[in-house]
Amino acid sequence: MRDQFDREIEYMRISVTDRCNLRCQYCMPATGVKHLLHSEILSYEEILQIVRAAARLGVHKIRVTGGEPLVRRGIIDFIRQLKATEGIDKVVITTNGVLLDEMAADLLDAGIDGVNLSLDTLDAAEFHRITGKDGLESVLKALDTLLAAPTCKVKVNCVPIRGFNEDGLMDVAGLARDRAISVRFIELMPVGFAFEQGMRGIPMTRVEQLLQERYGPFRAEGDGLPKGDAGPARYVRPMNFQGELGFIDALGHKFCASCNRVRLTADGFLKLCLNARTGLDLKALLRQGADAAEIEEKMRTAIYRKPREHYFLEKTHDEADTRRMYQVGG
Ligand code: SAM
Ligand code: SF4
Repeated sequence: MRDQFDREIEYMRISVTDRCNLRCQYCMPATGVKHLLHSEILSYEEILQIVRAAARLGVHKIRVTGGEPLVRRGIIDFIRQLKATEGIDKVVITTNGVLLDEMAADLLDAGIDGVNLSLDTLDAAEFHRITGKDGLESVLKALDTLLAAPTCKVKVNCVPIRGFNEDGLMDVAGLARDRAISVRFIELMPVGFAFEQGMRGIPMTRVEQLLQERYGPFRAEGDGLPKGDAGPARYVRPMNFQGELGFIDALGHKFCASCNRVRLTADGFLKLCLNARTGLDLKALLRQGADAAEIEEKMRTAIYRKPREHYFLEKTHDEADTRRMYQVGG
């Protein structure tokens, strides 16, 4: 469907849990996290009811995220059910990859179309410092297992943070030298735990400059502009790289005018913009007994009102959301 600003909304990102097996310093506090109770999160059947309504409204791509989606019990069957939902043609997942090696075969069997792997360093000690846990070796093993699967598109996502993971960025980019994958750098959003701690992202122009110093000049992929399925990333390819490097700078270059997505939080709130509280409490509707037609109609009205743009760079705005990234899913 089209919203009030004539944007085609065709993509839903679903957070299936606010729990995580890592504690990335910029995302989640190391201790004292208050998680949702099991009764507060949507059941898989409730999520599927929402997905069926979304599909009737024109959503055809689903991203499963978290917290860490692979820690939720039953996730493989849930992905299989998403894939079987009429109107849904693409189901992808965003994961920290720690459980991916043991689950890769089942995910592929369930029909997963793509995996975005979040990885901020290639150094095991750094990995432990950033995430609070070990696990890098298994993440890298899973990456290569998935790369061998022709039906699954793999991307690596890395968030460059000033004074935090600068040294390791270049090595993460190097994953695309010998592998036909996209390594994307994503600007740190001034939200949630990162923001509360005063963390700031490295501007993408600076990341690009550092990469060119290390790997030589880039050539843009196509026209270098965000396009089609690529989402908001701009892609380049250093000479003698098999894969490509992508940059997503949501703050510097607003892509709100072509935004095609909505988000569903683990506790059942349909979020219309990463930066705004605005949305629809679908859990309340479902648990009050709303039928499929009512769910669809309320979603249609809510999505139509999707805000025009984010206001991350304004100091305050009335609609700002206070949810943290692990509660929304990125
Ligand atoms: N646990 C999964 C993972 O790490 O891929 C999925 C959820 S995690 C919240 C999704 C993505 O959000 C990760 O790639 C993480 O690096 C990113 N992220 C967390 N906080 C962020 C922030 N303030 N700005 C931008 N990205 C952030
Ligand atoms: Fe967990 Fe992902 Fe947040 Fe890291 S970024 S703490 S893996 S939810």
